[in-house]
Amino acid sequence: MPGFEFFGPEETKEVNEVMENGVTFRYNFDGVRGDQWKARQMEQMIQEQMNVKHAHLVSSGTAALQVALAAMGVGAGDEVIVPPFTFVASVEAVIAAGAIPVFAEIDETLCLSPEGIEAAITPRTKAVNLVHMCGSMAKMDEIKAVCDKHNLLLLEDACQAIGGSYKGQALGTIGDAGTYSFDSVKTITCGEGGAVITNRDDVYGHSHMYSDHGHDHVGMDRGAEDHPIMGLNYRISEMNAAVGVAQMRKLDKIIATQRYNKAKIKNAIKDISDIQFREIPCEEGDSAGFLSFILPSEQRALEINKKLAENGVDGCFYWYGNNWHYVKNWKHIQNLTAPAKLPIELIEDRPDYTNIQTPKSDDIMSRTISMLIKLSWTEEQMDARIEGIKKAFA
Ligand SMILES: *Cc1c(COP(=O)(O)O)cnc(C)c1O
Repeated sequence: MPGFEFFGPEETKEVNEVMENGVTFRYNFDGVRGDQWKARQMEQMIQEQMNVKHAHLVSSGTAALQVALAAMGVGAGDEVIVPPFTFVASVEAVIAAGAIPVFAEIDETLCLSPEGIEAAITPRTKAVNLVHMCGSMAKMDEIKAVCDKHNLLLLEDACQAIGGSYKGQALGTIGDAGTYSFDSVKTITCGEGGAVITNRDDVYGHSHMYSDHGHDHVGMDRGAEDHPIMGLNYRISEMNAAVGVAQMRKLDKIIATQRYNKAKIKNAIKDISDIQFREIPCEEGDSAGFLSFILPSEQRALEINKKLAENGVDGCFYWYGNNWHYVKNWKHIQNLTAPAKLPIELIEDRPDYTNIQTPKSDDIMSRTISMLIKLSWTEEQMDARIEGIKKAFA
């Protein structure tokens, strides 16, 4: 990570092809586009590579979450179980849907735990927004069983975990729908972009319509199309999709590079007694975008985080103290601060977000550090990094 480290003439060529025929719109213009469909092409590449029936590109990962929630039928007054450790979009998308985020506990996988989900279920629970954080996955068999038992929809946010899998199935393809982000710092990028992936025909149908004002996309005359549902505009442009086409071709190499680099560092530091690696339920499916480890105490984590920086080990994240990835720092979410009145404010018995209790997650995240695994590292740079880590722990 990130995919932009592998930018080359391939991305430029794809974008130029779009600009040369001048059709930047992903639909229609059949006569003048010379059979060039970058968004469709990238969707097909995702379907083939991930072995999933449908992929639909949208303008961002956040848009993908909003589209997926609507397409699955999650809306006003529904409760959606979310993790306290995630990118803030996971919660924003639920609130934008008029639904009610309910925070549940994570475990040492750094993802929602099956027990955490089960403890947060109420008669109003409609879905689980399961986030595969930092390149690796949750305990999918157990979580799927909890969702099936309670008849809950399962959305897998794989925005940080494209290329990862669980027992041979691509992350994002196991639940009712999954999402990817192709923003500028993700594993592969479109500049900005995202995707909804699903094996359900109905969820796909709602996704492509909802993300384009309800257009049914039947026929070749956009003006004459029917609009079975309402929607909004979350379309991706052909320029963005063109970058993604080139990046998709590099995904295997990106994942292989991450895995090699991560294994080298992980192996070299595995005997440091203070380090407990994050639990990975399916090791061979790790996308290896991050190396995450849990320390014995919060104080030790703070100390190590500081010493890593002092020893030149950059790209480390102490998420617990970070503004965007842990619930305790999200004052705007806690206070529901928005420019206008929110649907959730009409729900009197909503949770008190100023008093979210996730003690187990606090305990884990206050002791966790993640290191971004870069693609461009040389062997020498990795050796220096390993030395830096050893010094930080000495
Ligand atoms: C990046 C990210 C998103 C949002 O994607 P954007 O394309 O930036 O809107 C959502 N969820 C997770 C877990 C992410 O990491």
